[in-house]
Amino acid sequence: MRVSQLLIPTLREVPAEAEVISHQLLLRAGFVRKVAAGVYTFLPLAQRVLSKIKGIIREEMNRIGGQEIVMPIVQPAELWYRSGRWEVYGPELFRLRDRHNREFCLSPTHEEMVTALVAGEVRSYKQLPLLLYQIQNKYRDERRPRFGLLRGREFIMKDLYSFDRDQEGLDLRYEEMYEAYNRVFSKMGLRFRAVEADTGAIGGSVSHEFMVLADSGEAVVAYCPDEACGYAANAEKAESLLVPEPAGEEGPLELVATPGMRTVEEVTGFLGLPARRLIKTLLYHTERGLAAALVRGDREVNEVKLQRCLGVLELELAHGETVEAATGAPVGFAGPVGLELPMVVDREVAALKSAVAGANKGDAHFLNVCPGRDFPVSNVADIRLVAAGDPCPRCGAPLDTVRGIEVGQVFKLGEKYSLAMEAFYLDEQGVKRPMVMGTCGIGVTRTMAAAVEQNHDADGIIWPASIAPFHAVVLPVNTQDPAQAAAADRVYSLLAAAGLEAALDDRPERPGVKFKDADLIGYPVRVTAGRHVAEGLVEVHSRRTGENVLVNEAGVAETVKRLMVENGGR
Ligand code: ATP
Ligand code: MG
Repeated sequence: MRVSQLLIPTLREVPAEAEVISHQLLLRAGFVRKVAAGVYTFLPLAQRVLSKIKGIIREEMNRIGGQEIVMPIVQPAELWYRSGRWEVYGPELFRLRDRHNREFCLSPTHEEMVTALVAGEVRSYKQLPLLLYQIQNKYRDERRPRFGLLRGREFIMKDLYSFDRDQEGLDLRYEEMYEAYNRVFSKMGLRFRAVEADTGAIGGSVSHEFMVLADSGEAVVAYCPDEACGYAANAEKAESLLVPEPAGEEGPLELVATPGMRTVEEVTGFLGLPARRLIKTLLYHTERGLAAALVRGDREVNEVKLQRCLGVLELELAHGETVEAATGAPVGFAGPVGLELPMVVDREVAALKSAVAGANKGDAHFLNVCPGRDFPVSNVADIRLVAAGDPCPRCGAPLDTVRGIEVGQVFKLGEKYSLAMEAFYLDEQGVKRPMVMGTCGIGVTRTMAAAVEQNHDADGIIWPASIAPFHAVVLPVNTQDPAQAAAADRVYSLLAAAGLEAALDDRPERPGVKFKDADLIGYPVRVTAGRHVAEGLVEVHSRRTGENVLVNEAGVAETVKRLMVENGGR
């Protein structure tokens, strides 16, 4: 395709609204334009990348027996009432009414709809397993749509749903989906890791997330560096071995003055104690009222674990006046002794024998606080975030952490939706049984952005060749020079004949502009027709490695193919 005819509106300036590099580069390189917060138009280059990503996904979904369908985006509320998620999904669900005042939503996911479909169409064990998938828009009114395509409100997802006769079938399906996802992200040329995950609002019991590794990732992954062990989980889910604090000396509860000492550092510094001997008391709003979470001073609360443990839908840290009203003391002096609130005690706190804690009184703390003796420890759980260096829950080796972007997730749903939507089948004996379901999803648009987060440099994007918008750009340095223009045309035809996708930058622009755009857009390979054309040679350049080779026209296609393979091509 001729670049002069393509809509590739590149920008020289970094757009002010773009916080993350993928957003900046995709705007600058002319891939996307923003329409509203979290809502984008995909221009021709983006559309080419998205269709490559979809193509790889389709190959692998079809390979495990998936059948592609398309379900509507507009879903009747009735389906969501049946599963109970009309309430549970909360403000993230885009809700609307038709002219008859009937309620609908824009689909954030399709468990209800696909299960209702299968409930109506499938009767017999002979029709199972059944795997249905689609690639289509999803809508989520995210609290903070941000980071460009990474967290949109309208985005493209591939979602697959599996229906099996029993748990064994689901276990097998899960393996297949998991392996298919490994192949999908490998084929895309991305560095990624599969990690254990929390199941969140979708429900179900077992889940893995696929994380594209990138420093800018929102997610933190904890993993065991011992490959034989292989433990890896996202921070929301990650656990560590409990290493009990050596039993301190039990002593009588003692009130001490800690004037103006509010933070963990201030209090422990003032008292000359390590942070791990302090009990941090945090108050949270929930739909059932306030609750307290207790972790050691050197730890952070894992709000996902806490939410699960409390069994609540809403959880938000309480501040200022709320804390003062509940504890009778200014912020910084809350503690569990005498606190009349539901309390979740982290298991490390429960293991302390003698700790420091706020006294629920201004400028005062208690010494020698003994959990169980001085406050109830009826609700003990692991509610802390793991950190690098914590012992692996499987083998005890110190865990490492790395940042990542969640691009896909695999779930075991079990019978939750088949019972709610009455998806039953008759087995060999004619007995009616609920189907056992699994599901997996890939964020197609998020994957495109994640690929950029992972693959770029100061000059622009470096697409892995398998998902690049074009395999190569052919660039005549001077379009006014007939020999260069003709050589570029010939090379362009040769590449097409070899089955390669090339763009021909035939714009009458200065060479500097064209070179800059080629780097910004991130074509894996650039073929330059310049002064060596006189000798019958063109220059082939690898975007990733910077390798340059002069080849004669007959050797161009082969060289481009070699450089593409080195650049994550297929
Ligand atoms: P997150 O935890 O990031 O909000 P999720 O766990 O809610 O995502 P799933 O329901 O598992 O997401 O959806 C499957 C995939 O869809 C995710 O792995 C992700 O790649 C993609 N996805 C989810 N939400 C968004 C979004 N707001 N914008 C773009 N892609 C998204
Ligand atoms: Mg997820």
